[in-house]
Amino acid sequence: MFGRAPKKSDNTKYYEILGVSKNASQDDLKKAYRKAAIKNHPDKGGDPEKFKELAQAYEVLSDPEKREIYDQYGEDALKEGMGSGGGGHDPFDIFQSFFGGNPFGAGGSSRGRRQRRGEDVIHPLKVSLEDLYNGTSKKLSLSRNVICSKCKGKGSKSGASMKCTGCQGSGMKVSIRHLGPSMIQQMQHPCNECKGTGETINDKDRCPQCKGDKVVQEKKVLEVIVEKGMQNGQRITFPGEADEAPDTVTGDIVFVLQQKDHPKFKRKGDDLFVEHTLALTEALCGFQFILTHLDGRQLLIKTQPGEVVKPDQFKAINDEGMPIYQRPFMRGKLYIQFTVDFPDSLTPDQCKALEAVLPPKASVQLTDMELDECEETTLHDVNIEEVMRRKQTQAQQEAYDEDEDMHGGAQRVQCAQQ
Ligand SMILES: [Zn+2]
Ligand SMILES: [Zn+2]
Repeated sequence: MFGRAPKKSDNTKYYEILGVSKNASQDDLKKAYRKAAIKNHPDKGGDPEKFKELAQAYEVLSDPEKREIYDQYGEDALKEGMGSGGGGHDPFDIFQSFFGGNPFGAGGSSRGRRQRRGEDVIHPLKVSLEDLYNGTSKKLSLSRNVICSKCKGKGSKSGASMKCTGCQGSGMKVSIRHLGPSMIQQMQHPCNECKGTGETINDKDRCPQCKGDKVVQEKKVLEVIVEKGMQNGQRITFPGEADEAPDTVTGDIVFVLQQKDHPKFKRKGDDLFVEHTLALTEALCGFQFILTHLDGRQLLIKTQPGEVVKPDQFKAINDEGMPIYQRPFMRGKLYIQFTVDFPDSLTPDQCKALEAVLPPKASVQLTDMELDECEETTLHDVNIEEVMRRKQTQAQQEAYDEDEDMHGGAQRVQCAQQ
């Protein structure tokens, strides 16, 4: 959408490109384009730029509505009406629709029929850590568009279709509004008569199976194989299984693995991490416990006689981590992080008993003299994580405020450049 004052210039270029006069008839235009387009086709060694120019000129002048705008206001008015790209249509598509196929005959063109590529369809696929450890397969039922088998994607019984009269086959319509004596507004929108396809099918000739849609819905079951050791975010692709459409290379269906959190195991690459809490007695005097692995095996985990485990200490078991993708007989490590549960308090008797067996205290006995010179203090309980979190939030807020100032400036500069 725009408004502008028209310029009375640059509305002869398209006529010059095609080598016709300003009052050339539609027939004159067709003849001129046919001759020049064949001569300048890139497949015949022509200049691609010239070929593009010809297509652009012909596209505009062959459309009475566009020609009128061009004659009155010039090229810029059309470009702006077509949106920021302004280039109009693919010159090869214009060439093909003009000749209704390939004028060079079979094998004459290295391009063949130019096809669009359909969109890929991405589905997230939730999997458990057990699925990624053991491997699994999941059957998924999807519905998709396939080319109608009855009409082979033509949409009609006879195979014929007509160029839409509403848009001259371009699929788009341009509407013009006069905003004032020297202001016009142009808008381009998909043609309502053909829903932007550029062609219409006679009601009586419509294919009974697809009702002229060219495609029908089909249910399909896909079996997704999740291999051992696959990663969160890994993609599993089914080439050419997305929606089919006429003259379109069918896109892929892609499943993206999303690993659900596991209550016990955490994965980092090929390694697994697990936390285990020990009573103080276990940490000091040894322990054994059973850990059920992701494949249901029971691992017996135990200390050597006399071994002491300290708080937050890690220990590792080789080859009990994740299987390595495509080398499932190799596995990473299983790390165990130990937390030690200390008693909250001890009785004087318990203290005495412990002092008798544990290494002697490091703290020396202080004399009354020394105690007299000291200041008494009190130890309070603190939640250090909470304290740190508060400090970090504070620091982040300050950094954010600074950032804000800088970014605001950078954005202003960017806007000015556009
Ligand atoms: Zn149309
Ligand atoms: Zn059909």
